[in-house]
Amino acid sequence: MTQPDLLVSPNSVLANALVRSIDLLRPRVAADRPNRIEFVVGTQINGAPHLGTNLVQAAAFTLARLARREFGIETAVKFGALDNAPYEVDLDPETHHSYQRTYFHALGKAGVDDLIDRYYRAFFDSLSDATDVEYIVETYTDQQASPGFRAEFLRSLEYLEDIRLWMAPSHGNVHVRVPCPECGWAEKRGDRTRLAGLDEDGATFTAVCMDHGPYEVHIDPEDDTPYLDLATLYRNLVKERLIGRDRKILPVMVKGGDWTFGCQLVDGALGAMGTPITQIPMRIFTPQVLAPTGAKLSKSLLRERGTTALPPDVEPWMLDTTTVPGDVDGYVDALLWLVGTMLSDPKHFFRSFTVRELSRLMHARPAEEANRPRAHEMGIYKRYFDLIASGEKTTEIRVNDASRRNLKEGKLIRFKCQGDEVLTKVTYVHRYADFDEMFDHESVASVNPTATRESQLANIRQIYPPEREAMGVLAIGIELIDPPRLRPKS
Ligand SMILES: [Zn+2]
Repeated sequence: MTQPDLLVSPNSVLANALVRSIDLLRPRVAADRPNRIEFVVGTQINGAPHLGTNLVQAAAFTLARLARREFGIETAVKFGALDNAPYEVDLDPETHHSYQRTYFHALGKAGVDDLIDRYYRAFFDSLSDATDVEYIVETYTDQQASPGFRAEFLRSLEYLEDIRLWMAPSHGNVHVRVPCPECGWAEKRGDRTRLAGLDEDGATFTAVCMDHGPYEVHIDPEDDTPYLDLATLYRNLVKERLIGRDRKILPVMVKGGDWTFGCQLVDGALGAMGTPITQIPMRIFTPQVLAPTGAKLSKSLLRERGTTALPPDVEPWMLDTTTVPGDVDGYVDALLWLVGTMLSDPKHFFRSFTVRELSRLMHARPAEEANRPRAHEMGIYKRYFDLIASGEKTTEIRVNDASRRNLKEGKLIRFKCQGDEVLTKVTYVHRYADFDEMFDHESVASVNPTATRESQLANIRQIYPPEREAMGVLAIGIELIDPPRLRPKS
């Protein structure tokens, strides 16, 4: 599908080891045999997303679709909404210590939900629809309140001396933020926050509020208050420990490429706590979006330095993708095409891109690609493809796996076979327990006018083994809405 020479990338150590980027997960999938793979992507909820953020998210959905196809395992995307991002920062006039208040403390749960809806809901719904991958949203606030997260945090305190320098190599002062129960402000760098005691009920911290003076909080795994705000590295340590425990679910952290440097410190701390390598989540680092200087495209830097610092190659929508021209589906389809192009070769995926190069690529997207309607895609054998293209086959049979959940009347399906494709519209979706029950109700000739029920059953069961049939069966009514697009005959 990729045009030749659309992208030129040098080889790298990782790319050289892989045929496809998704193969990076194969050793863990083979060793763990998980029931499900969850692609975890965390995003600070602090205003409109920029292109880099959306690129990581689109990559998570695309990788989830690829992994489902490649490994035959259910996959999903888990979106971590980091509502503990600082909303406002202030200096204590006496000590000059920094204090901060999180988005959650400033806006409340309803305010955070509004932000998620405004900036991400339509975008994720569109990604989910285009990739047939389900997603769930979890805020940091909900996560820190869970007994599992608190228990894992308390366990890490028993190793505090061993992880201290991994979490804060320059001074060993680990930043645990326990906001003041009265006003919600917390010491940004935990200057006067102390672990006062650790017992079987939990941990006691003392801290000082710039308005309300000294206070004490007690973190207990059975209790969802008081609030526990961990700095980035520590939060990742606790989260990775927590999600690595369920051996039936393989977690894959999808992170922007700038995280490659930081993860070494998380790994050091995981090791210091004796975490087995098989309980450490997999990580996939996505391409970084770079300004012309080679530095990461950063919104906070621009916020500090004003728009005069805006590099000439940056198109304004790249910094606030809610202003991208066109509708959400169009933007999502363009992003998915971009990520798909990068994933066409590991050399293209495990690297960075300047904004200028990304602009060039997005403008190089073939117009016919941009203008085609969004459709669920299905590969199909040649003999069935020909029957659909001629209009003789009006019922398609599939098992009811996760990728089919969104199928319903009115949706489009693009059937593909060896470079040919035909676009159809779904006229109905009927669900059955197995293929026998399906043929009791559906017209045998509409599935395949050239074969008997018995021979069709035999053929289908060669394609789908019993454990796949056990997921249930779909009969999908289809009608041609476009003449088939066939490769030119050579
Ligand atoms: Zn206070």
